[in-house]
Amino acid sequence: MIDLPESPAPRSTSEIASFHAHIYYDPATTRLEAERLRTWIDERFSVTLGRWHDVKVGPHDQAMFQVAFAADVFPVLVPWLMLNHGRLSILVHPNTTNPRRDHLADPFWIGPQLAVHGEKLPEESPIEQAPLPNTRVAAEILARPVTRKERRFSQLTMDQLDEKQKPLGEQIMKVSSIGIAGPYNPMLRSPVLGQRLFDLFHYLRWETSVPTKLNEFAILIVGRQWRSQVEWHAHAPLAAKAGLSSEIIAELKAGKRPPSMAEDEAVVYDFVTELTTAKKISDPTFARAKKLFSDQQIVDLTAVAGNYVMVAMMLAMAEETVPAGKEPPFKDKGVYS
Ligand code: ZN
Repeated sequence: MIDLPESPAPRSTSEIASFHAHIYYDPATTRLEAERLRTWIDERFSVTLGRWHDVKVGPHDQAMFQVAFAADVFPVLVPWLMLNHGRLSILVHPNTTNPRRDHLADPFWIGPQLAVHGEKLPEESPIEQAPLPNTRVAAEILARPVTRKERRFSQLTMDQLDEKQKPLGEQIMKVSSIGIAGPYNPMLRSPVLGQRLFDLFHYLRWETSVPTKLNEFAILIVGRQWRSQVEWHAHAPLAAKAGLSSEIIAELKAGKRPPSMAEDEAVVYDFVTELTTAKKISDPTFARAKKLFSDQQIVDLTAVAGNYVMVAMMLAMAEETVPAGKEPPFKDKGVYS
């Protein structure tokens, strides 16, 4: 039996702040080739080109220059280097907090492997984010007018979650139709809050005293008021599945008070709409609610409506939208879309 080294969990790629590609050359024979490769990179990739080192520096056994780049450049740059390195050797390594391990244990080589004098490197150092790109193509990208806005919160993937976020991400994946997108994407940025909200969502969906059809109707009413693409996208199918008629869903979506509601549906509509628009409940509406619902149901109904205002706020703040390839339910121009 061979013992596995003790490791409680696989390392996460969130450890990697950036990458280096060290491009080695021989000043006597392959410098021109290195110059040509450098020019090609300059014209094609948004990276940071380092100085020429015609003499050995640091842990490096040959003359070289360094290319620093962000993780999102890796999938375009590295395969291109594989095809275009010619006679040059390239060391590609991640930048974590352990430079010695990054250079010696975890890198890979394009072209013939050279020596790396790792003993010169520390085992602990501040993490190195990718510096500002300095290539010609980076300057061009910067000069271009902005056509597409960047996301306010880049979409997290399960692999990127750190130790504080991962347990929440795993719970979300078990119940969410949109994975860790939508409100979960900003929520994961504050994992303790995110966990407590998730627990609240759990109560409001599966433990609430309000019948599912009316509960989902209340969520849709708030989703319509906020014109929340994600709330409507996620909850219209749940409302239909719980028995809310397609006419009521269509009328609500069109911005009308649905004319064909049963009394319990009408009470939910008027109760939630009054509370969110007039900021109060009139005595007649409260009396109608009291006739049909228990005190607990009235409290839970108020809570579900308020919660989905909060979710709509989270979605609006983060400018989250429906998953790629899905049609946004509201086509007309709203306050936000
Ligand atoms: Zn390096």
